[in-house]
Amino acid sequence: MFTRRAADGGARFAFTDRWGGAGAAPFDELNLGGHVGDDPHIVAENRARVAAAVHLAAERVVWMDQVHGNTVTVVDGPHLSPIPATDALVTRTPGLALAVLVADCVPVLLADPFVGVIAAAHAGRPGLAAGVVAGTVEAMCKLGADRSRIVATTGPAVCGRCYEVPEAMREEIAGRVPAARARTREGTPALDIPAGVWAQLAAEGVSSGTDTGEKSHICTRESADHFSYRRDRTTGRIAGYVWLAED
Ligand SMILES: [Zn+2]
Repeated sequence: MFTRRAADGGARFAFTDRWGGAGAAPFDELNLGGHVGDDPHIVAENRARVAAAVHLAAERVVWMDQVHGNTVTVVDGPHLSPIPATDALVTRTPGLALAVLVADCVPVLLADPFVGVIAAAHAGRPGLAAGVVAGTVEAMCKLGADRSRIVATTGPAVCGRCYEVPEAMREEIAGRVPAARARTREGTPALDIPAGVWAQLAAEGVSSGTDTGEKSHICTRESADHFSYRRDRTTGRIAGYVWLAED
């Protein structure tokens, strides 16, 4: 269902894949997105299954109504409905999970386990350009996090060899984030959003060394185990979860 890794001090990270849920094609099986045309009851069932698998109460998972912007919202308790118009969540409340939905965009999970501040961010092309990563790190620091201690992990996303864009779009994004400049296998203009995210994290003082960071090398467009909007258009969403364990 998902991969998981734990950081010192009780921070937990998890990323789902598309298997282990109750959904039918084209949302088979574990679609967690509530805005993609899938049956809401099945989405709720799928969210409950993941919560149970990671020993969380489903109502203590906070979701976002993601809009490809750079708004960061601090939360300190459960929310029954998604936080409106936001692309990053930050909390220091133990046992409260933050979730980010993707199907090609980069799910970014961050934690300063020492002070117990965590964040989840949604970084696609517009979010990368708008600085959602820097805004998230800044919001964490306002709650007491230290950049040098922040542990980062990014989940499955479309890779630079698969994300073809018009030349003008590549130049516009690469003008702000040079590391995102890429080429497809065919040699046409492309963007590498994960590389751009990690360059932005490094610029914020968050290291990508093995002690503090882990980058998924799964390309959603190439993986039969993941949803990909670029590949399938009508499809589900995987999710990244971050939380501070209470034990
Ligand atoms: Zn790829």
